[in-house]
Amino acid sequence: MTSPHPIPDLSRLCVHTATTKPWDIETAMERYAKAGIAGITVWRDKLEGRDPETVGRQLADSGMEVVSLCRGGFFPALTAQKRQEAIDDNRRAIEEAASIGAPLIVLVCGAATGQSLEDSRSQIVDGIAAVLPEAESAGIKLAIEPLHPMYADDRSAINTMAQAHAACDRLDHPLVGIALDVYHVWWDDTLPDQIAKAGELDRLFAFHICDWMTPTSHLLTDRGLMGEGCIDVSGIRAMVKATGFTGFNEVEIFSTRWWESDQDEFLEKIKDAYLQHS
Ligand code: ZN
Repeated sequence: MTSPHPIPDLSRLCVHTATTKPWDIETAMERYAKAGIAGITVWRDKLEGRDPETVGRQLADSGMEVVSLCRGGFFPALTAQKRQEAIDDNRRAIEEAASIGAPLIVLVCGAATGQSLEDSRSQIVDGIAAVLPEAESAGIKLAIEPLHPMYADDRSAINTMAQAHAACDRLDHPLVGIALDVYHVWWDDTLPDQIAKAGELDRLFAFHICDWMTPTSHLLTDRGLMGEGCIDVSGIRAMVKATGFTGFNEVEIFSTRWWESDQDEFLEKIKDAYLQHS
């Protein structure tokens, strides 16, 4: 006899710890696992004051897959000293990723006001190249996440999938690929081709989902749950799937509105929205 309510398939659902900002890492681990969520992406702020190795063991015990560590990057700067500090910080991120069992680091690549975007892009490529030896020895992938152009001034000089491809081309390394976040690239009319290209070149490393609210009340902290806004999440997911991508759908929602709500209920809504927009 078949059940009238088949068990929902959450095996490709991952939640970013930044999505449930009020929870510390221990609470997030416990509640996600209890809710049946299969994957977790850890934001570095949640590791502060903790031994990453210990957190790594707790994560392994949770039964969830550690999908990635967020985030590295922020390579461009006006001075060589600042650029070196960024490289050192990315080396620490690689160590942390290895300690918690994350196979990938998401890179928010950075931009420096006071210099051209072209210069910032070159510094991004140089910065990634500088940490590749450590990434190689730890076996950690580095995923360039193109950020929406509204962040081109100080968060990322890589704003389109095409620019992310260009950086990957310059680095030409199997550990360097792209993290596609629907929030940042949904508007791009070349998206289907860019996703197909990423699939062909084996560089589609991560897939982040959320939604774009209208009107958007804050540039950082007003993301929506899938279905609340104008992004065709199902359509983009279908393109991603068509490349053969079998990775996680990572729910990454920065939202003051949702952070103020009951986080357990929010988690249930995330599961529903994920299932509805597959
Ligand atoms: Zn993202």
